[in-house]
Amino acid sequence: MAYDQQNGSGSRPMHQGNWTCAQCGAAITQLPFAPREDRLGDLMCRDCFRQRRGNSDRPQRHMVQGEWQCASCGTTISELPFNPDPSRMDQLKCKACHQAQRTQY
Ligand SMILES: [Zn+2]
Ligand SMILES: [Zn+2]
Repeated sequence: MAYDQQNGSGSRPMHQGNWTCAQCGAAITQLPFAPREDRLGDLMCRDCFRQRRGNSDRPQRHMVQGEWQCASCGTTISELPFNPDPSRMDQLKCKACHQAQRTQY
């Protein structure tokens, strides 16, 4: 766990790539960190990032795009408010089923 690539000069190496802002859809070509493949739905451009930090009292839910299947009714789920756990795919439910389940309690 040693950071032997740290050169302490203060200039952080930027990661080059081709990503898209999850908020406004702008292209992101540089990031101060290497984004994780499963967090690409959370990526934000600098403007959106700054804006979000500006009004942090209004929590915003970002949706994760993908293609899953509802374990209950079999419908296709294209958006989730969280990153689904691959080991719990059989418990994944669409919005309607989720709501139906919640109202039961
Ligand atoms: Zn943006
Ligand atoms: Zn369903």
